Amino acid sequence: MQPPVRRERFPALFPGEPAFRWTQAEQALFQEGKNGWADITTFSSSMRETLTKELPWMSVVSDRVVTNRAGDTHKAVLRTADGLRFETVLMKNKRGQWTICVSSQVGCAMRCTFCATGAMGLTRSLTSDEIVDQYRFWKTYLVEKVLPGRISNVVFMGMGEPMANYENVKAAIRTWLKHTDLGPVRITVSTVGVLWQLDKLLEDKDWPPVRIAISLHSANQKRREEIIPSTTPDFLTHLADWARRYGDRQGNRRHHVTYEYTLINGVNDSEEHAKELASYIRKTGAAKINVIPLNPVPGKPFTAAAQRRVDRFKDIVSSFGLDITQRRSMGEDIAAACGQLALETK
Ligand code: SAH
Repeated sequence: MQPPVRRERFPALFPGEPAFRWTQAEQALFQEGKNGWADITTFSSSMRETLTKELPWMSVVSDRVVTNRAGDTHKAVLRTADGLRFETVLMKNKRGQWTICVSSQVGCAMRCTFCATGAMGLTRSLTSDEIVDQYRFWKTYLVEKVLPGRISNVVFMGMGEPMANYENVKAAIRTWLKHTDLGPVRITVSTVGVLWQLDKLLEDKDWPPVRIAISLHSANQKRREEIIPSTTPDFLTHLADWARRYGDRQGNRRHHVTYEYTLINGVNDSEEHAKELASYIRKTGAAKINVIPLNPVPGKPFTAAAQRRVDRFKDIVSSFGLDITQRRSMGEDIAAACGQLALETK
């Protein structure tokens, strides 16, 4: 069971109040220098009292935060009101600003074989408040630690499968777009490729024009099924079709699809795999490929591909005229791989 969210609690607490009151309250959550409802003087003192008692200013609390030696990666384990733990990461990006990596669920049902979160199973989806508040948590953190720079990007690459929590992810993104300086191309939703949800997104007028990243990891149907057991029959054919329709709907240079490809030693990193990937991607429309060297998870049989092999893989793919980049590995000294920290805490 998910805890109730503020957006629904508010009208129940103040049935007589006009709707703009909630917009004011939501806006207040994002004001600089405010630490609670008591600070929001646009509300009467009796309203502030009720809000303080009944409506959580923060839906999550920090369990612990670890920072890597370089000081450019901070990872937090947050706790929900019902005592569940999940993680969120703050990373310095290329532009010297901060990217936050947010979770959409506690655990995950997708069981990707190389992923730490996949091993946990799904506990529950996060509410829109719990997603929204990951941004607010890091924003306050930057102020408290006097760290320069602002949060310029959000990626849904923490725990969970965002397309399996579609409505709450959508509500959270819409809240950020409304109350922060984040633009839609600064937000990336990364998905294993839940096709019926991806289809829904194409028809959904309220779905914001954020970036989509697909965790492909193999352009070979059989191999993908081995690494990612949630892969549906004919996935690659359907995905290519989806990508073309996505391109027709919002295709422009800002709305290419990104394909994520975690390189696993001896599993999906050969020359043949690179060629398979290139010929697949060439059929799908505007695309970028982002390779991620595997962040090995203790207890799993997978190792990272050597940088030599990664370079070879990238060379082959780019020789097909495709845009391929490598994700920087960050915070390796603080177990920054997906799900690792929350597992350790458990
Ligand atoms: N459920 C979403 C978000 C997952 S985390 C999705 O599947 O896209 C973001 C990315 O990290 C995904 O591409 C995921 O496959 C990848 N990933 C997970 N565990 C990893 C690991 N140990 N090393 C490298 N990449 C990993």
